[in-house]
Amino acid sequence: MSITAIDKEYVAGTYGRFPVELVAGKGSIFTGSDGKRYIDMGSGIGVTAFGSADDAWLAAVTAQLNKLQHTSNLYYTEPCAMLAKALCEKTGMKKVFFSNSGAEANECAIKVARKYSAEKKGDDHYTIITLVNSFHGRTLTTLSATGQDHFHKLFNPLTPGFVSVEANNVAALTEAVATCKPAGILFEVVQGEGGVLPLTAEFVNAAARLAADNDIPLMVDEVQTGNGRTGKLYGYMHFGIHPDIVSTAKGLGGGLPIGATMMSEKVQNVLASGDHGSTYGGNPVCCAGALSVIDRLDDAFLAEVQTKSEYVFSALNGAKGIKGVSGLGLMIGIKTVRPAKEVVMECMEQGVLCLTAKDKVRLLPALNIPMDTLKEAINVIKSVCAKEE
Ligand SMILES: *Cc1c(COP(=O)(O)O)cnc(C)c1O
Repeated sequence: MSITAIDKEYVAGTYGRFPVELVAGKGSIFTGSDGKRYIDMGSGIGVTAFGSADDAWLAAVTAQLNKLQHTSNLYYTEPCAMLAKALCEKTGMKKVFFSNSGAEANECAIKVARKYSAEKKGDDHYTIITLVNSFHGRTLTTLSATGQDHFHKLFNPLTPGFVSVEANNVAALTEAVATCKPAGILFEVVQGEGGVLPLTAEFVNAAARLAADNDIPLMVDEVQTGNGRTGKLYGYMHFGIHPDIVSTAKGLGGGLPIGATMMSEKVQNVLASGDHGSTYGGNPVCCAGALSVIDRLDDAFLAEVQTKSEYVFSALNGAKGIKGVSGLGLMIGIKTVRPAKEVVMECMEQGVLCLTAKDKVRLLPALNIPMDTLKEAINVIKSVCAKEE
């Protein structure tokens, strides 16, 4: 039996997989089981920030693996402490809670916001305001936070205490803040799964102001936008705001599972001993890999991400068969004339692996993708988009 057939028989059918089995990768190049070369324009959905089997990341991870792979949170370990220190020093946040995924990072963010607001204003202040078309994860509570009804169907009852308002609608957000006794305002600065849609600066700044004026924790979900993806270390840094709670995951680990919830001065002591925990959270191997990622996201590197982004936007904007390009940095959505799925399948046949988000082709290449590899992939995408039916 082929791997494809075994997977189909035994793995829960929750994913629509492409008909490709990948066996190896180096940088932005994958090798299929048939020996075919693929350019990776998805980086495992924005996870392998430095591509596959990156030398520095591999060295950091294997050095730690050879020392200690797990201790539990009953003991101190260096990678966990040093990663938290690096994240705080680079963001100005004060404390970090480590978990294993984006959904868990958001679960922690929600717990912090609720506890802060319950202590400050009373436990009827539990509602988190999120945005329509958002995505915050697949656990029942982060699903409840996700403002897309089609994800909710048949999983009721959801966790109470979430309302979603239209993105970029300041009046709707203002109304919700005034009426729902909010415990937090939560958004992605670029809605990733929702179709690579950046929020307007006006809306982000209005949300920050409303949060500050009403003492409501401002929560930014940087699971996808974080860790250099948008050309800044965190996406909120494009807007000059100072969130109270930032959740991240995906690119942070460079390919190993890690989530982080960062807390500002205002909420840094909300979680006390026993309030939250995770057996794997802060795992030394994952933290060693993440530290090697975070350490390299300096201004010079982020400027290169911006340069690559500018190249992609200018190459695709106005090209034949392309109706528009959205996003920030190397988080890119392409509205195509041909159906996105069809474009992605044909790119795959031509050796370029892309993603979709809603009705768009989505690109999340490794942040260090070499310029010539990026150009090769963009040329394939352009030619596939330009093809007449
Ligand atoms: C992917 C994603 C999540 C969920 O992350 P998991 O690691 O799959 O739990 C949450 N929020 C955003 C914005 C995401 O893109």
